[in-house]
Amino acid sequence: MTIGIPRAFLYYRYHVLWETFFEELGIDYIVSPETNKDILKRGNAHAIDESCLSSKIYMGHVDYLIDKCDYIFIPRVASFGNAKEVVCSKFQAIYDVVNNTYREKDLKILYYSIDVHNKETELKAFLKMGKFLGKNKAQVLKAYYIAKQAEKTTRLLEINNQKLLLNNSNLKILIVSHPYNIYDKYVGEPIINTLKELDCTPILACIAPEKLAREKSKLISKTLPWTFNKELVGAIEIYKDNVDGIILVSSFPCGPDSLVNEMIIRKFKEKPIINLILDDQEGTAGMETRLESFVDIIKLRKESETYE
Ligand code: SF4
Repeated sequence: MTIGIPRAFLYYRYHVLWETFFEELGIDYIVSPETNKDILKRGNAHAIDESCLSSKIYMGHVDYLIDKCDYIFIPRVASFGNAKEVVCSKFQAIYDVVNNTYREKDLKILYYSIDVHNKETELKAFLKMGKFLGKNKAQVLKAYYIAKQAEKTTRLLEINNQKLLLNNSNLKILIVSHPYNIYDKYVGEPIINTLKELDCTPILACIAPEKLAREKSKLISKTLPWTFNKELVGAIEIYKDNVDGIILVSSFPCGPDSLVNEMIIRKFKEKPIINLILDDQEGTAGMETRLESFVDIIKLRKESETYE
């Protein structure tokens, strides 16, 4: 049996957990390639027009995997625990969206469902999935705990590496973006590359201790409902004194990000901020020009501060 993992959405947050879990259970898997023109085209053809770019990309990766594996892995996540928090409804709906979109293809989907508000925890979800894969409870528990440890170790390493970057003398720009947008080679990585070409050090808000970030987000808003956005807002609080500017990156037309980014722009007045919206238009010239101007403004501002 081969599992196909779409390289999109929660893959960028959980790939170490998922891949280690499958490896420990001896289950073969493939991951769809980095997003490219063809994948985006497939996504546009299979997603409804109103979908955010990130959902279209997800559909493109699913479409790529059809006929290349036995099951496509599509987890469903609704809530992680805090009674007042949810995640964007796309993560809850994507399983049904894919199922409906490909209903004539009799698609086989492997999934787990996390909805802590309804007592569906991550552990329970993995136990159920492991049973479906034909493994016994002891095997699944062992694989899950090894995978959790691998996830924790990787996360700590990422956070520590980023801490080191905060000490260098370049301009440091905080990129506030969901990991599935900024790590995506086709739509997000050009931003990182352009900043590096401009001799800036990108600092990623999605690399921050999640629990601390959720706590810190309360300094900005106590009523934000979306867990992932709370973590990004809290990360701004964590990094803001060590960076020279902030770039908000979201995919068109993202409801949660448009509300949250507006709030960030109003509340964080002390640093220059720009808002970049990713869409499916080809070419990066417009984005590069905006980044160059932004970096110039930061440099001028720093120079005038030195002069004063
Ligand atoms: S948070 Fe925004 S970008 Fe992410 S899935 Fe939801 S609508 Fe799409």
